[in-house]
Amino acid sequence: MIHSEKAYGKINLAMNILGRRPDGYHEVDTVYQSVSLHDDILFEASQTFRLTCSRDDLVCDETNLAYKAYTALLPFCDGPRPLHIHIDKHIPVAAGLAGGSADCAAVLRGLNRLWKLGLSSDTLRKIGRALGADVPFCINGGIARAGGIGEILVPLAPLPQWQVIILHPPVPVHTDKAYVLFDKASGLAGTDVGEMTAAVASKSFARVCGAMSNTFETLIMPHVPAVGECMNLLRRRGLRPLMTGSGPTVFALVPSDTDGEELAAAIENETKTTEVILTTLQ
Ligand code: ATP
Repeated sequence: MIHSEKAYGKINLAMNILGRRPDGYHEVDTVYQSVSLHDDILFEASQTFRLTCSRDDLVCDETNLAYKAYTALLPFCDGPRPLHIHIDKHIPVAAGLAGGSADCAAVLRGLNRLWKLGLSSDTLRKIGRALGADVPFCINGGIARAGGIGEILVPLAPLPQWQVIILHPPVPVHTDKAYVLFDKASGLAGTDVGEMTAAVASKSFARVCGAMSNTFETLIMPHVPAVGECMNLLRRRGLRPLMTGSGPTVFALVPSDTDGEELAAAIENETKTTEVILTTLQ
């Protein structure tokens, strides 16, 4: 019998970086929003532990966040738990969409259920916090304002299921390297995450688009020209683009009077290398 768990990606509707802490992590103030784009995590009985992935360029050893999640739950079990975990990958990797964190959270949720461990969401978030800054949010997903390194979560009232168009240029950006750029920079304009929180409460499409901002954008854009190119593709269609997380993925919310499929097809025609994904807020 195969059990499965969906691992939803995220976008950041607003992202501010407050500073580097003595432990090397960075304090953030951000609004996370899950999207329907997801990986599927499959759990299947096996004689030994195995982790596999539909993408053969993703390493499936103990550095994989799904592997780490499995290992983190073993102390809660009373014996060995051989299992085959398969990741059916759809979320672009190292893209700012928290694919790895989503997989990690889905393994924690899925095994908690499958092994009947009875761990609360709060305990899963605490376990996840040690594995990655975005993991606590990915445990429950939805929409939340996050502080600390991303683990202090205040859930917000859900937005309508607006469509989102995601443009992913094939350039990996590693979050730790993006934070090095932040540490070297000075005089950066911050992001008003409070305004985004108010915009979300208003559920006004225009106000949410107006409040979209990400402090990482000005840091990453000079190093990854594809980010600006993706933004221009969206701007030319009257959309408000924003980079998610530390990039390079760019997204825009799609107004309800626009045909998302047509829009995605038209943008796809204009770009050779960029992946175009139409999804919705989850
Ligand atoms: P975040 O915004 O959470 O920092 P991201 O969306 O920018 O992450 P991910 O796709 O989560 O990027 O990948 C970040 C790194 O994690 C990659 O270098 C990748 O090799 C590693 N990684 C480990 N496990 C996974 C996994 N299951 N899926 C994707 N990446 C993984």
